[in-house]
Amino acid sequence: MTYVVGVTGGIGSGKTAATDEFQRLGIDVIDADVVAREVVEPGSVCLKEIQHHFGPEVIQSDGHLDRKALREKVFSNNDEKEWLNQLLHPEIRRQILAQLNNASSKYVILSAPLLLENGLDKYCDQVLVIDVPESLQVERTVTRDNTSEEQVAAILNAQMTREERRRKADDIIVNDTTLNALHTQVQELHKRYLEAAIAHPS
Ligand code: ATP
Repeated sequence: MTYVVGVTGGIGSGKTAATDEFQRLGIDVIDADVVAREVVEPGSVCLKEIQHHFGPEVIQSDGHLDRKALREKVFSNNDEKEWLNQLLHPEIRRQILAQLNNASSKYVILSAPLLLENGLDKYCDQVLVIDVPESLQVERTVTRDNTSEEQVAAILNAQMTREERRRKADDIIVNDTTLNALHTQVQELHKRYLEAAIAHPS
Protein backbone atom coordinates (compact mmCIF):
# COMPACT_ATOMS: atom_id res chain seq x y z
CA MET A 1 0.00 0.00 0.00
CA THR A 2 1.04 3.60 -0.60
CA TYR A 3 2.43 5.58 2.33
CA VAL A 4 -0.59 6.82 4.32
CA VAL A 5 -0.73 10.02 6.35
CA GLY A 6 -3.72 10.21 8.71
CA VAL A 7 -5.10 13.68 9.38
CA THR A 8 -7.33 14.34 12.36
CA GLY A 9 -8.45 17.11 14.68
CA GLY A 10 -11.53 18.25 16.54
CA ILE A 11 -14.55 19.96 15.04
CA GLY A 12 -13.63 23.12 13.13
CA SER A 13 -9.90 22.63 13.69
CA GLY A 14 -9.10 23.06 10.00
CA LYS A 15 -8.79 19.49 8.66
CA THR A 16 -10.53 20.37 5.40
CA ALA A 17 -8.56 23.60 5.03
CA ALA A 18 -5.34 21.55 5.48
CA THR A 19 -6.31 18.61 3.25
CA ASP A 20 -7.46 21.00 0.48
CA GLU A 21 -3.88 22.25 0.40
CA PHE A 22 -2.45 18.70 0.27
CA GLN A 23 -4.84 18.03 -2.61
CA ARG A 24 -3.68 21.18 -4.39
CA LEU A 25 -0.14 19.77 -4.09
CA GLY A 26 -1.28 16.67 -6.01
CA ILE A 27 -1.97 14.33 -3.12
CA ASP A 28 -5.03 12.05 -3.10
CA VAL A 29 -7.27 12.76 -0.10
CA ILE A 30 -9.71 10.22 1.29
CA ASP A 31 -12.19 11.86 3.64
CA ALA A 32 -13.96 9.45 6.02
CA ASP A 33 -16.95 11.82 6.23
CA VAL A 34 -17.36 11.66 2.45
CA VAL A 35 -17.09 7.85 2.49
CA ALA A 36 -19.68 7.74 5.31
CA ARG A 37 -22.11 9.58 3.02
CA GLU A 38 -21.26 7.46 -0.03
CA VAL A 39 -22.09 4.15 1.70
CA VAL A 40 -25.72 5.28 2.23
CA GLU A 41 -26.32 6.72 -1.23
CA PRO A 42 -29.57 5.75 -2.97
CA GLY A 43 -29.26 2.20 -4.32
CA SER A 44 -26.64 1.15 -1.76
CA VAL A 45 -26.99 -2.05 0.26
CA CYS A 46 -26.61 -0.08 3.52
CA LEU A 47 -29.48 2.28 2.66
CA LYS A 48 -31.73 -0.69 1.82
CA GLU A 49 -30.91 -2.30 5.17
CA ILE A 50 -31.55 0.96 7.03
CA GLN A 51 -34.93 1.32 5.31
CA HIS A 52 -35.82 -2.28 6.13
CA HIS A 53 -34.84 -1.85 9.77
CA PHE A 54 -36.21 1.64 10.57
CA GLY A 55 -39.05 1.91 8.06
CA PRO A 56 -39.80 4.22 5.12
CA GLU A 57 -39.90 7.32 7.34
CA VAL A 58 -36.09 7.54 7.29
CA ILE A 59 -36.06 7.91 3.48
CA GLN A 60 -36.76 11.27 1.83
CA SER A 61 -39.09 11.52 -1.18
CA ASP A 62 -36.03 11.89 -3.47
CA GLY A 63 -34.69 8.52 -2.24
CA HIS A 64 -31.88 9.91 -0.08
CA LEU A 65 -31.42 9.09 3.58
CA ASP A 66 -33.26 11.47 5.91
CA ARG A 67 -30.37 12.02 8.34
CA LYS A 68 -32.41 14.06 10.77
CA ALA A 69 -35.11 11.35 11.02
CA LEU A 70 -32.44 8.67 11.48
CA ARG A 71 -30.63 10.74 14.13
CA GLU A 72 -33.86 11.07 16.06
CA LYS A 73 -34.38 7.28 15.95
CA VAL A 74 -30.95 6.45 17.33
CA PHE A 75 -30.43 9.52 19.55
CA SER A 76 -31.68 8.06 22.81
CA ASN A 77 -31.62 4.37 21.90
CA ASN A 78 -28.26 2.71 22.38
CA ASP A 79 -29.36 -0.62 20.85
CA GLU A 80 -30.43 1.12 17.64
CA LYS A 81 -27.25 3.19 17.60
CA GLU A 82 -25.23 0.02 18.01
CA TRP A 83 -27.16 -1.71 15.20
CA LEU A 84 -26.45 1.22 12.89
CA ASN A 85 -22.75 1.32 13.81
CA GLN A 86 -22.43 -2.44 13.23
CA LEU A 87 -23.89 -1.95 9.76
CA LEU A 88 -22.01 1.17 8.71
CA HIS A 89 -18.56 0.94 10.32
CA PRO A 90 -17.38 -2.25 8.56
CA GLU A 91 -18.64 -0.95 5.20
CA ILE A 92 -16.99 2.47 5.70
CA ARG A 93 -13.74 0.69 6.64
CA ARG A 94 -13.95 -1.56 3.54
CA GLN A 95 -14.48 1.44 1.27
CA ILE A 96 -11.64 3.39 2.91
CA LEU A 97 -9.28 0.44 2.44
CA ALA A 98 -10.35 0.04 -1.20
CA GLN A 99 -9.74 3.74 -1.84
CA LEU A 100 -6.35 3.61 -0.05
CA ASN A 101 -5.38 0.70 -2.28
CA ASN A 102 -6.47 2.57 -5.41
CA ALA A 103 -4.66 5.81 -4.56
CA SER A 104 -2.11 6.80 -7.15
CA SER A 105 -0.34 9.84 -5.69
CA LYS A 106 3.12 9.57 -4.08
CA TYR A 107 1.48 9.24 -0.68
CA VAL A 108 -2.15 9.46 0.37
CA ILE A 109 -4.05 11.38 3.04
CA LEU A 110 -6.76 9.72 5.12
CA SER A 111 -8.72 12.44 6.90
CA ALA A 112 -11.18 11.58 9.69
CA PRO A 113 -12.47 13.52 12.69
CA LEU A 114 -12.52 10.25 14.69
CA LEU A 115 -9.36 8.70 13.16
CA LEU A 116 -7.94 7.86 16.61
CA GLU A 117 -11.25 7.06 18.35
CA ASN A 118 -12.20 4.57 15.59
CA GLY A 119 -8.77 2.98 15.29
CA LEU A 120 -8.26 4.10 11.67
CA ASP A 121 -4.74 5.17 12.65
CA LYS A 122 -3.70 1.52 12.29
CA TYR A 123 -3.80 2.03 8.50
CA CYS A 124 -1.58 5.12 8.75
CA ASP A 125 2.20 5.41 8.68
CA GLN A 126 2.03 8.89 10.24
CA VAL A 127 -0.63 10.80 12.14
CA LEU A 128 -0.92 14.56 11.67
CA VAL A 129 -3.09 16.41 14.17
CA ILE A 130 -4.56 19.81 13.34
CA ASP A 131 -4.69 21.56 16.67
CA VAL A 132 -6.36 24.80 17.72
CA PRO A 133 -7.46 26.28 21.04
CA GLU A 134 -11.03 25.31 21.83
CA SER A 135 -12.22 28.91 21.75
CA LEU A 136 -11.14 29.15 18.10
CA GLN A 137 -12.77 25.79 17.25
CA VAL A 138 -16.05 27.16 18.57
CA GLU A 139 -15.68 30.56 16.91
CA ARG A 140 -14.80 29.18 13.46
CA THR A 141 -17.47 26.47 13.52
CA VAL A 142 -20.19 28.89 14.62
CA THR A 143 -19.25 31.19 11.71
CA ARG A 144 -18.99 28.30 9.19
CA ASP A 145 -22.19 26.47 10.13
CA ASN A 146 -24.26 29.36 11.48
CA THR A 147 -24.90 27.25 14.57
CA SER A 148 -24.87 27.98 18.31
CA GLU A 149 -21.87 27.91 20.65
CA GLU A 150 -23.72 25.37 22.82
CA GLN A 151 -24.14 22.94 19.91
CA VAL A 152 -20.47 23.16 18.97
CA ALA A 153 -19.44 22.76 22.62
CA ALA A 154 -21.59 19.59 22.89
CA ILE A 155 -19.84 18.01 19.86
CA LEU A 156 -16.45 19.14 21.13
CA ASN A 157 -17.09 17.53 24.53
CA ALA A 158 -18.00 14.20 22.89
CA GLN A 159 -14.66 14.10 21.03
CA MET A 160 -11.22 13.16 22.32
CA THR A 161 -9.58 15.94 24.33
CA ARG A 162 -6.97 18.17 22.74
CA GLU A 163 -4.27 16.78 25.03
CA GLU A 164 -5.06 13.12 24.25
CA ARG A 165 -5.01 13.83 20.53
CA ARG A 166 -1.73 15.71 20.77
CA ARG A 167 -0.16 12.80 22.66
CA LYS A 168 -1.00 10.40 19.82
CA ALA A 169 0.27 12.69 17.06
CA ASP A 170 3.48 12.22 15.07
CA ASP A 171 3.13 15.77 13.72
CA ILE A 172 1.07 18.72 14.91
CA ILE A 173 0.00 21.80 12.99
CA VAL A 174 -1.14 24.56 15.31
CA ASN A 175 -3.75 26.33 13.18
CA ASP A 176 -4.26 29.41 15.31
CA THR A 177 -3.27 32.15 12.89
CA THR A 178 -3.98 32.70 9.19
CA LEU A 179 -4.88 30.30 6.38
CA ASN A 180 -1.62 31.31 4.70
CA ALA A 181 0.32 30.15 7.76
CA LEU A 182 -1.58 26.85 7.66
CA HIS A 183 -0.71 26.37 3.98
CA THR A 184 2.98 27.06 4.69
CA GLN A 185 3.02 24.39 7.40
CA VAL A 186 1.30 21.92 5.05
CA GLN A 187 3.88 22.64 2.33
CA GLU A 188 6.74 21.95 4.77
CA LEU A 189 5.22 18.66 5.88
CA HIS A 190 4.48 17.71 2.26
CA LYS A 191 8.22 17.79 1.53
CA ARG A 192 8.90 15.49 4.48
CA TYR A 193 6.09 13.10 3.57
CA LEU A 194 7.36 12.86 -0.01
CA GLU A 195 10.80 11.84 1.32
CA ALA A 196 9.26 9.37 3.77
CA ALA A 197 7.12 7.87 1.00
CA ILE A 198 10.15 7.36 -1.23
CA ALA A 199 11.98 5.59 1.60
CA HIS A 200 8.91 3.49 2.38
CA PRO A 201 8.74 -0.03 0.90
CA SER A 202 5.33 -0.30 -0.81
P1 ATP B 1 -15.16 19.60 10.79
O1 ATP B 1 -14.53 18.51 11.57
O2 ATP B 1 -16.22 20.30 11.57
O3 ATP B 1 -15.61 19.20 9.41
P2 ATP B 1 -12.64 20.83 9.90
O4 ATP B 1 -11.62 20.39 10.89
O5 ATP B 1 -12.64 20.21 8.55
O6 ATP B 1 -14.08 20.79 10.57
P3 ATP B 1 -12.51 23.36 8.45
O7 ATP B 1 -13.86 23.27 7.84
O8 ATP B 1 -11.33 23.13 7.58
O9 ATP B 1 -12.45 22.42 9.76
O10 ATP B 1 -12.33 24.76 9.19
C1 ATP B 1 -13.37 25.33 9.98
C2 ATP B 1 -13.64 26.76 9.51
O11 ATP B 1 -12.52 27.56 9.89
C3 ATP B 1 -13.77 26.89 7.99
O12 ATP B 1 -14.72 27.87 7.71
C4 ATP B 1 -12.37 27.33 7.56
O13 ATP B 1 -12.39 28.08 6.37
C5 ATP B 1 -11.93 28.18 8.74
N1 ATP B 1 -10.48 28.16 8.96
C6 ATP B 1 -9.68 27.08 9.04
N2 ATP B 1 -8.40 27.44 9.29
C7 ATP B 1 -8.42 28.80 9.37
C8 ATP B 1 -7.41 29.80 9.63
N3 ATP B 1 -6.13 29.48 9.84
N4 ATP B 1 -7.80 31.08 9.61
C9 ATP B 1 -9.08 31.43 9.41
N5 ATP B 1 -10.08 30.56 9.18
C10 ATP B 1 -9.76 29.25 9.18
